[in-house]
Amino acid sequence: MIELRSVSRAYGDGPPALNDVSLTIARGEAVAVLGPSGSGKSTLLNLVAGLDRPTGGTVTVDGVRVDELGESGSARYRRTKVGMVFQSFHLLDDLTVFDNVVLPAQLGGMSRGASRRRAVELLEALGVARFADGFPGRLSGGERQRVAVARALMNRPAVLLADEPTGALDSVSGQDVRKLLTELHADGQTIVLVTHDLALAGACATRTVRLVDGRVAS
Ligand code: ADP
Ligand code: MG
Repeated sequence: MIELRSVSRAYGDGPPALNDVSLTIARGEAVAVLGPSGSGKSTLLNLVAGLDRPTGGTVTVDGVRVDELGESGSARYRRTKVGMVFQSFHLLDDLTVFDNVVLPAQLGGMSRGASRRRAVELLEALGVARFADGFPGRLSGGERQRVAVARALMNRPAVLLADEPTGALDSVSGQDVRKLLTELHADGQTIVLVTHDLALAGACATRTVRLVDGRVAS
């Protein structure tokens, strides 16, 4: 599903953020990327997400050469192939919970009826349907992250990418999100998550990749 071949990402003259990383992730795997701060974890995730381009090597996701996409191809790729979840949720605070979740489908051109049905289904499956008409700012961190996961899944992405998804949560909410990601993996979702949370890696991941100084250490 995901193949990185000799991927590097350098910024200016500094040491490369990623240095000759090769990594293959099969459909249905849940992989945790671990490593100290500054080791290149977010850089790796952003390259898979099509948010950034490598300075060397190739990135292929679900048959798409992500490193070769132009601007519009990249936007379409991000809408259709990947869902992203961030530490700080990145929900739009002036849209309702429902509108946040339905937005990717509207941008992707799904019909209004189909996108509304999908949003209702996801909000129910993730246990946040009762907040549909409210605003994200009123929810707890764990509830917000559930909404963010619903949004990420809206267009049935080939891969779900999560960057420190429990990093801003208290331990009860963290446990909740851990369980949710583990269930998604059990349902066959391919997941790559970056985390410092060893409990999350242990519960959800079938494999861990450790980065040190932009290289795969193990
Ligand atoms: P991690 O997520 O593991 O903490 P990052 O992937 O965010 O690490 O960063 C890896 C390295 O790349 C760090 O040294 C960081 O300072 C550098 N870096 C990341 N983004 C940029 C950027 N936009 N410009 C310059 N350096 C960057
Ligand atoms: Mg990071």
